[in-house]
Amino acid sequence: MRVPILTYHSNNVGGNDYADNDHVALAADLRRLHAEGVRIVPLARVVDAFLGEGGEESVENAIALACDDGSWFDWHDLDHPTCGPQRSFANILRDFSAETGAPAQITSFVIVSPAARAELDRTCLVGRGWWGDDWYAAADREGVVAIESHSWDHNHATLARTAQHAQARGTFRTIDTYADADAEIRSANDWLDANVRTPRAGLFAYPYGETNDYLVRDYLPNRIGEHRLRAAFGTDPEPVTRRSSRWNLPRYVCGHHWRSADELARLVASRG
Ligand SMILES: [Zn+2]
Repeated sequence: MRVPILTYHSNNVGGNDYADNDHVALAADLRRLHAEGVRIVPLARVVDAFLGEGGEESVENAIALACDDGSWFDWHDLDHPTCGPQRSFANILRDFSAETGAPAQITSFVIVSPAARAELDRTCLVGRGWWGDDWYAAADREGVVAIESHSWDHNHATLARTAQHAQARGTFRTIDTYADADAEIRSANDWLDANVRTPRAGLFAYPYGETNDYLVRDYLPNRIGEHRLRAAFGTDPEPVTRRSSRWNLPRYVCGHHWRSADELARLVASRG
């Protein structure tokens, strides 16, 4: 088993070129991978195979897609104030499937707290109400965009307050006590269960790709009955293999680990 997980950020719109726009990059990458004969499988299927709950052949010669933070750019076509109209990730996948007949799904790791998203909409976007959760349940039902957890409030640097007990924000490494992990991880899953769907695949992506020994070796493996997760993803640039850590599965990040469709094709082909 050797499956690259590719991560995009729909909020990354700094221009309209591959290098500064993850919508442009995603659309180009899908077609390039399809031309190379690579299949796109749901991220949950990769976790099923990894956990021995699904056959490895179901993820052979495949990649899975993820995106982080869960803003409207995942779902709604939006008119960006300086870069103009942006096709949503959902529509980019639908366009690709209509064009090629190939299935495509992305797992969106969303920042769960509605209050945190409302604040981030002002501090990180342009304050137009583009970080609402009105689309989560519909997206998850349709299946093009599966909804999973990116923590309660991302312990985000630009929030006035987060769940972290000492307000050590801007990193996830400081989520290293039971109370903080319970607030950031278990409570986020409670909200998603109540407002999106239950059961979900039980996936989690660490904010900033950052983790620590407490989460990986203690809280996540020992409190499954509480947080109900099945696997957690970081951002180590490797494919998922049998040797990967269940609580820190690797993901490649667009713009960091590859910067063109050619580079991505080489990276995916090198999976051996
Ligand atoms: Zn994030």
